[in-house]
Amino acid sequence: VVTLRDVHKSFGPLKVLEGVSFEVPRGTVTAIIGRSGSGKSTALRCIDRFETIDRGEIRVCGHRVDAPGLDLRRLRQDVGIVFQSYNLFPHLTIEQNITLAPTAVKGMPRAEARALAAEVLAQVGLGDKLQAYPEQLSGGQQQRAAIARSLAMRPKVMLFDEVTSALDPELTGEVLKVIEVLAASGMTMVMVTHEMGFARGIADEVVFMHRGRVHERGPAAMLEAPTTPELRQFVGSGL
Ligand code: ATP
Ligand code: MG
Repeated sequence: VVTLRDVHKSFGPLKVLEGVSFEVPRGTVTAIIGRSGSGKSTALRCIDRFETIDRGEIRVCGHRVDAPGLDLRRLRQDVGIVFQSYNLFPHLTIEQNITLAPTAVKGMPRAEARALAAEVLAQVGLGDKLQAYPEQLSGGQQQRAAIARSLAMRPKVMLFDEVTSALDPELTGEVLKVIEVLAASGMTMVMVTHEMGFARGIADEVVFMHRGRVHERGPAAMLEAPTTPELRQFVGSGL
């Protein structure tokens, strides 16, 4: 479903991705790990075309992401992305936050969009928060609402960039639980995470990035037996 082939990306003189390749088959979970600055977020953002690439190829759900003729609207419908900060609109209720894109982008009738909002909020355990404003929710609840908002577009692929790293530890679990249930439902996912225990438990494949390259890649069990010193050091650094 998602394929990156020899992806290169620089910001000015700074080479951030230097030939990144990996595939994410349908219905699987890939965890991207690596130290700060290794290019994890950039790689993820390239998949949803929040960044353009300099060289290489990215294919997602039949879209050729690097091609000039890309239909960005349809790509964004197929691929949902959730960031570290929740990005909910503070002046809109949770229901309004969720119905906004389906009505504006897909032209969904309001009543249908409201029913959908109730459904996706129930899915993340926030069925009673439709009329709340973001500031009335805890960080964990806001992040779950942000996930629900993505789900309302019925994406085929979900991208998560360190969605728990801004949360207090006691709120992290409830968000990870939602992601776990989503994975179990067969959603194709790519997640950047620092939660190594979670990555071990949920990922079909782990991609270890180091200095803009995929340094090591394999089933989650590879974290137990890293073959490169860089991954051994990363895993051993207490994460
Ligand atoms: P972290 O774990 O800290 O989130 P990361 O692996 O996600 O790190 P990236 O955010 O992909 O790393 O950044 C990789 C490098 O690219 C960093 O050196 C960063 O400063 C740089 N970079 C990222 N985005 C931009 C940008 N828009 N303009 C210039 N440099 C950028
Ligand atoms: Mg990052």
